[in-house]
Amino acid sequence: MAPQIYNFSAGPAVLPMSAVAEAQKHLAALPGVGLSVLEISHRSAACGEIMREAEANLRALLNIPENYRVLFLHGGASLQFAMIALNFLKGAPQPADYILTGSWGQKAVAEARIGGSVNIAWDGADDRYTLVPEPSELKLTPGAAYVHFTSNETIQGVQFAVEPDTGDVPLICDASSDILSRPLAVENYAMIYAGAQKNMGPAGVAVAIIRDDLLARAPDDQYAMLSYRVHAESGSLYNTPPVFAIYMVMLVTRWLKDTIGGLEKIQQINREKAQLLYDVIDDSDGFYRGHAAAGSRSLMNVTLRLPSEALEAAFVEQAESAGMVGLKGHRSVGGLRVSLYNAMPLEGAHALCDFMRDFQRKNA
Ligand code: PMP
Repeated sequence: MAPQIYNFSAGPAVLPMSAVAEAQKHLAALPGVGLSVLEISHRSAACGEIMREAEANLRALLNIPENYRVLFLHGGASLQFAMIALNFLKGAPQPADYILTGSWGQKAVAEARIGGSVNIAWDGADDRYTLVPEPSELKLTPGAAYVHFTSNETIQGVQFAVEPDTGDVPLICDASSDILSRPLAVENYAMIYAGAQKNMGPAGVAVAIIRDDLLARAPDDQYAMLSYRVHAESGSLYNTPPVFAIYMVMLVTRWLKDTIGGLEKIQQINREKAQLLYDVIDDSDGFYRGHAAAGSRSLMNVTLRLPSEALEAAFVEQAESAGMVGLKGHRSVGGLRVSLYNAMPLEGAHALCDFMRDFQRKNA
């Protein structure tokens, strides 16, 4: 058997072994269909069943109320940055509020600014994006078109513990790197969106969960592919959807529901994994330095520095030789980034912690 390789990459990321094995087993012919999932029509009953189960699993896991649509979209989370502004900001009487806790929020606001008016309700740039705001620090616009925030900043490794309270103003969340990692009060949001390639499946599909009253604000005079209304009214079948990616979302959400037992269970496991890592950092006498402030630490992406860039490079190289890959931090933060998405087993976190303690002993 090939030795176990632990994939700590920030995305595309580790997938549940059982979901990948299931896809492999049936790749040439879906049971009862006789055709590959790669060749079935998106209008076929088989594809309809895949999309139905993927949506049903998401609804069950997140407890999504009836008055929300679940859409499967192309273009990744990045296209949502533009679509949100085109559908819900363009022509609105008030600006949209953006809360910036890292690089992805910055990208989202840059897109919104192209055609819309924006207020920065909070910006963590001066603190090098090491923390999330206190509720009292937010400068929200009364009657704003919406408030946008990033629940987990994948590059900096800072995460909101709870969503901001925006009253009647629609709250829109980029949950790309922590969706399905913990229970969520969906009813507090007008929209939640995420690229699949961290906690839901492979790259190629983004999921958007949109409340009907927000959807109703989308204009009629919109390019079809950029219109949430068109995608909602066609059941995500306006054009050919990424069938294989949605199929994998179905298998991954089935695993989360049936094998793991839901979001409270996975949250416990995710807390345990992250705690192991943060304990090694905190017990290292400063050899490992966490990027995020204590109260804002991400359970999904643990970002840290070592005493020198040479040691960081040596760590990444030696960890790779030991079967632990994807640990190099994003170039804007440097250092290391340990991504601990749902499918990373507890043993992977233990293996990395053992490696870290050993590396410190040899290099401190
Ligand atoms: N938002 C967040 C929080 C992300 O982590 C990423 C991808 N790393 C994106 C948006 C962009 O996603 P995509 O590549 O699917 O456009």
